[in-house]
Amino acid sequence: MDNVFSKERFLTSLNACKSYKSLDATLLAERLSELAEIGRTKQGGISRLVYTAEEKQAKQRLTKWLEELGLVVREDAIGNLLALYEGENPELPVVMTGSHLDTVPNGGAFDGALGVLSSLTAIEGLIKEGKRPKRSIELVVFVDEEGTRFKNGIFGSRVMMGEVTYDDLLRFEDEEGIKLVDAIKEQGLFPEKIKETHYPKENIHAFVELHIEQGKILEENQEKIGIVKGIAGPSWHSFTFVGETDHAGNTPMTHRKDSVAAAAELILAVEQIPPKVSKTAVATVGKMNVHPNGSNVIAGETTITVDARDIDEDLREQMNRQIINAANKIAEKRGLSLEHKTEITIPPVLAPQAIQDAIKHASEALKLPYRYVISGAGHDAMILGKYVPSGMIFVPSVNGKSHSPEEFTHLDDCLDGIAVLKETLYELANQ
Ligand SMILES: [Zn+2]
Repeated sequence: MDNVFSKERFLTSLNACKSYKSLDATLLAERLSELAEIGRTKQGGISRLVYTAEEKQAKQRLTKWLEELGLVVREDAIGNLLALYEGENPELPVVMTGSHLDTVPNGGAFDGALGVLSSLTAIEGLIKEGKRPKRSIELVVFVDEEGTRFKNGIFGSRVMMGEVTYDDLLRFEDEEGIKLVDAIKEQGLFPEKIKETHYPKENIHAFVELHIEQGKILEENQEKIGIVKGIAGPSWHSFTFVGETDHAGNTPMTHRKDSVAAAAELILAVEQIPPKVSKTAVATVGKMNVHPNGSNVIAGETTITVDARDIDEDLREQMNRQIINAANKIAEKRGLSLEHKTEITIPPVLAPQAIQDAIKHASEALKLPYRYVISGAGHDAMILGKYVPSGMIFVPSVNGKSHSPEEFTHLDDCLDGIAVLKETLYELANQ
């Protein structure tokens, strides 16, 4: 299992010439390795789902490190962790930074955990350098970013921004039938006090999250820093073709109303549409339900879901209209009926120029090659970005792998990213 995470592999991915005086590479490697052991699977991945003993242990470990650094740590009513590095003017709105510690099942060591440790290491670096900015810097660990257990992702940030009510909590349970409220209570937390977790947006000056790219663009272009211009919000549309269920042997090819064939035609059409709309648009059919789903039956009903994303909302909607048009034409041509439903639409979020500039200044000062990128995946920064100026720093992912035991980022690249994060936070916190 050479291609999974190990402390040795991580440590040897450090170029000996590379060093940042106030950033401790060995300590970072040790901490990331310690977290990677919590919830480690046989396949070499990590399963650390929300409101489990593993997730709690990871949060406790981090709390210990934060307290050793002299920071005051608090946990809000639903489990978000917050730690304050007090600035010279603590009454000013804070600069917030952080990520998440939960993973997908059998996920990687870097998604979320690297962001949290980067924020910790950046603050530690500032402390070592004796740099206390004007504004306080607040580290945050958002609970349940991945949303695997309750199918309810980017949860902690939505709660913190006041988007979730107690009644909303009652609607969710996991596959074992454990209710979300009970899972929260079991951790010694207080779902009924959900209102107290709302963080007034006027008390946040900016939010910055470091994250692995989860793609190959930086690696392929030998760039170290991705300055995220925006996060492409997803929209989901479902299309159900209704034809006629018939015998696969006795129905001539000329007399069929085959819903699978119609869905297949739409899937191929969906693949062609995004490049005609914009360079950054993407659309995916990852889910298909066939009824009755038998080898010798012409299926009467097939549903597919199209996930369409772009950084520009108008262009995304233009893409959706083209997809809906294509679906209607296919249904008409084949004599099938079509049901179309909009499942979700999440608006894209753009990073304000001032935050992008702060990241750019830091990258230039450190002579690190950077590129402007967009994030196709959702992050807590997407939620914060609706209310407060928010930005993200991406670091390269080896082979673009993520949500897998093979997820890896060279220690060198982690340090470069943290150095940029540190300077970005310092600049923002002195505004
Ligand atoms: Zn993540």
